[in-house]
Amino acid sequence: MIALRERLQAQGVHTLLVQFTDLHGCAKGKLVPLAHLDEVMSMGAGFAGPSIWGTGLPRTGPRAEYYARGDAATVQPLPWLPGVARVVGDGFVDGVPFDACPRQVLHRALARLAERGWQLRTGIEPEFFLLKRGRAGAWLPADNHDRLDKPSYDLKSLPRQLDFLQALNTSLAACGLDVLQIDHEDAHGQYEVNFAYGDALASSDRLMLFKLAAHALAEARGMVFSMMPKPFANQPGSGLHFHVSLWQGERCLFDGGPGDAGDPSGLSLLGRQFVAGVLAHAPALCALAAPTVNSYKRLAGGASISGTTWAPATIAHGPNNRTAAVRTLPGRFEWRVPDASANPYLATAAMVSAGLDGITRGLDPGPACTADLFTWPPAQVRAHGLARLPQSLHEALQALEGDTVVCGALGETLTTQFLQIKRGEWAEFARHVSAWELDRYAAVF
Ligand code: GLU
Ligand code: MG
Repeated sequence: MIALRERLQAQGVHTLLVQFTDLHGCAKGKLVPLAHLDEVMSMGAGFAGPSIWGTGLPRTGPRAEYYARGDAATVQPLPWLPGVARVVGDGFVDGVPFDACPRQVLHRALARLAERGWQLRTGIEPEFFLLKRGRAGAWLPADNHDRLDKPSYDLKSLPRQLDFLQALNTSLAACGLDVLQIDHEDAHGQYEVNFAYGDALASSDRLMLFKLAAHALAEARGMVFSMMPKPFANQPGSGLHFHVSLWQGERCLFDGGPGDAGDPSGLSLLGRQFVAGVLAHAPALCALAAPTVNSYKRLAGGASISGTTWAPATIAHGPNNRTAAVRTLPGRFEWRVPDASANPYLATAAMVSAGLDGITRGLDPGPACTADLFTWPPAQVRAHGLARLPQSLHEALQALEGDTVVCGALGETLTTQFLQIKRGEWAEFARHVSAWELDRYAAVF
């Protein structure tokens, strides 16, 4: 610890930002002077447990205190907060790992893979909006001139945000993230920043770092960084696609061999079984991957001003098929269901439990689908033996409650908390009378 403190001091760090993630996937934490590094790394920084979404901890007694115990592998000076280094904490309560801490949930899921000598790698692709508040509080793209009908890869709008994007790029690079590409996405004010895939825990930690940086850098420029899944009804929403592969050392277990040559997926048998599990548990996984009321505006299918939304609506897989929930690629698959509001730790852990179930039961993912599923009406989807993803948060929560495999991965406390909090969110939405309803019904009957 002395060596770490001295290294940080030499880097000009005087304060630690001890960060953990709540049930909603929001970064939480506190500042601790570097002099107290030892406590942060041994016992953890303390927080009032019930003040954190999803802990279900009591207000009194030894279990009232939530400790975020620093993981030394994550210590990283933050370029946009000079003198401050982030350290990611694992949740502990009463001296033992806290079962409902999202990072602990992921540790447990990855340990199940490690028992078999396997490691999971993920590449998480954040899409996001840069927004501002207009007159009467309306949410608008921050860039007034971003107006094309088909805005993907727009090279007139992209440079207008170069100040933010370049600051983000250099900040992430300074934190050790290998930024691969930055583009304008398919909606007004929407962008995507990709960084290299890696160990699944590190990828989730990096996504949280990305969110911290993007929020701070956008706010400093008078903009709002938004990972709301679908801010504008007539435009595509923001996905958080996961590229998934399983490894044994440096050997990718999803790489198809000569025996898999007849299969169009490009995956090994193990990979196909993993995908089959992800598809078999797709409705319950939706609750974790698309965890907000708004998520289902994105997954509803249909068109957008640009022609399509690119968000999947059908539980299917296909080689390089972006219209299916799972797009298979040689040696990996892209899980396209998650949206930008997903908690990366919980989504990954749930996905691992589903994949492992597919392997344990030797499931078959069914025939690969090469068709454009966006053009298929519901009857055609059913005729092919396929099903739609849940079309509301309520439907996804019902599926989660009935799925012992996915609930088992979350653990009892988190499952109870998740269902309770998210059902509350749904109930509030269901009771809300929207402007659409008033416009449609007020003067009609
Ligand atoms: N924005 C799309 C989504 O909501 C994805 C676009 C893409 O494939 O990059 O999933
Ligand atoms: Mg994209």
